[in-house]
Amino acid sequence: MAEAGPIHIMGAGLSGLAAATTLAKAGVEVHVHDVREDSGQRFDGDFQALENWSMNADFFDQLLEWGYDPKEFKATEFNVVDLIHPDDEISKTHSPKVAYRIVERGTSEHTIDQGFKRMAIAAGANLHYKSRVKEEDCQIIACGPKGTSAVAYGEIFRTKHPNHIAFQLNDKLAPGAYSYLIIIDGVGLICTCLWRKQKGTERFLNETIAWYQEHYPDIDMEPIKRVGGKGDFTINKNYFQDGRFYVGESGGLQDFMWGFGMRMAVWSGHLAAQDILGNCNYETEVRKQLMPYVKTSVSNRFLMNRVGDRTFKRMCKSWMKNQAKKGDGLIWIGKLFRPTWYKSLLYVAVSPFMLKKDPKAMGRGVRRLPFRKAKKRDLWEQSESAVKIGERWDQVRRSGGRTSFSENSD
Ligand SMILES: Cc1cc2nc3c(=O)[nH]c(=O)nc-3n(C[C@H](O)[C@H](O)[C@H](O)COP(=O)(O)OP(=O)(O)OC[C@H]3O[C@@H](n4cnc5c(N)ncnc54)[C@H](O)[C@@H]3O)c2cc1C
Repeated sequence: MAEAGPIHIMGAGLSGLAAATTLAKAGVEVHVHDVREDSGQRFDGDFQALENWSMNADFFDQLLEWGYDPKEFKATEFNVVDLIHPDDEISKTHSPKVAYRIVERGTSEHTIDQGFKRMAIAAGANLHYKSRVKEEDCQIIACGPKGTSAVAYGEIFRTKHPNHIAFQLNDKLAPGAYSYLIIIDGVGLICTCLWRKQKGTERFLNETIAWYQEHYPDIDMEPIKRVGGKGDFTINKNYFQDGRFYVGESGGLQDFMWGFGMRMAVWSGHLAAQDILGNCNYETEVRKQLMPYVKTSVSNRFLMNRVGDRTFKRMCKSWMKNQAKKGDGLIWIGKLFRPTWYKSLLYVAVSPFMLKKDPKAMGRGVRRLPFRKAKKRDLWEQSESAVKIGERWDQVRRSGGRTSFSENSD
């Protein structure tokens, strides 16, 4: 159990606000400090997916069970997604269940960040924005990514196209990772993720947008702004140390393969609060409930780092074959995320080489997935249409369009 007295939480993101809500509901005095002006400001209107495939439990049932109300924020359910193969074939994956929910991150009222903020305030937590505190003075560290293991960035636009989601495995447009298209109620996002560090990163986004424009000609984009951020993937020796709980991405509780970290952020915030209330041991529960998934994702990332478009194509084919046989596209993807004995073995074998020690981690034994170097194949000339996308963005930028993303910030 943490020391009695008021609890100070560093970071008013998903994990920090989840912990604050649970503690305040139980009558504990809680103060949440955030360096920014508001929760969600880090993301500025980005769309993100709450995955619902890594375990049998529906994430919204988990939220309700933990005492969080999913009606506090807008979430759009999907059970279908266009799967774009690296050779541009487009298949449809579908499920009879809710496969994932799209939420918006940011400071608008309907975002998940503001939903969690409302829950924390209603429970009686005290939120302090533009407040800089020392790690040593806090009991819960929930300040998101510190280092950089990967980056993602995209363009937000207006469109008349109906709601639509596409997920693309393509090692050229998204080195080592994937790109995606999300359209919700007249606003769209095309985003690319880079799991290898690049010079001139805008060319990847421009080329990705050009690709979607060519293959989804009805989108008719009217660009608004560019957004993005970094992901920090670490394994920690301890998740509770020197009286402090490390939750969410601050504790490395993230999906190393593809960066689906929101579920683990809320989950770990909830567990830290339960420990403080005397209901569990955080360290034990993180290792039991979350680490098997994190370790599986480390193994998946190890494998992903070794392949390119040929294997991505095989993955797409195998996914579609499995869906045709089982009638549910969630089964294949769910299996990829779930712990197995051979992925545990692989984790033990590869993690000592894959992860690099962080000397600045206050003796916490943090090992980080390094941002990998670019490969020769990442060097290519932009197509004419991608150059035009870049010019279009320049015009939008000159007339006030913002870029909220810089590789040196989170
Ligand atoms: C571009 C992008 C797309 C993503 N897409 C998805 C997705 O589709 N699905 C998914 O599940 N996950 C996604 N993720 C990952 C997900 O956003 C994170 O895993 C999740 O937000 C982590 O929650 P957290 O509580 O740890 O941090 P956050 O929610 O980021 O909150 C951290 C908070 O701490 C504050 N802070 C930072 N430093 C300090 C400090 N020194 N003192 C006080 N406060 C501080 C920040 O201002 C912020 O408010 C994405 C990430 C990025 C960058």
